[in-house]
Amino acid sequence: MKTHGTFGQRATSGGDKESLIDLICKQCDFYKDSDKELECGAFKILRGLLKKGIITPEEIIDVLRE
Ligand code: SF4
Repeated sequence: MKTHGTFGQRATSGGDKESLIDLICKQCDFYKDSDKELECGAFKILRGLLKKGIITPEEIIDVLRE
């Protein structure tokens, strides 16, 4: 099973950028290892929702599995 950095291993939100990239970007068709500094709107929204506790990393993983 693919892991999602520290986000995939804990129920709480608030990981660092590498964890967010593992969780969100590495599932994205536009992901490029060389463009890690770029942040699209969806990335920013998901990071904000995670930070506020509105969504959990597990919910993102579940959605990406569908
Ligand atoms: S920042 Fe956005 S477009 Fe870029 S890889 Fe992450 S989710 Fe995809």
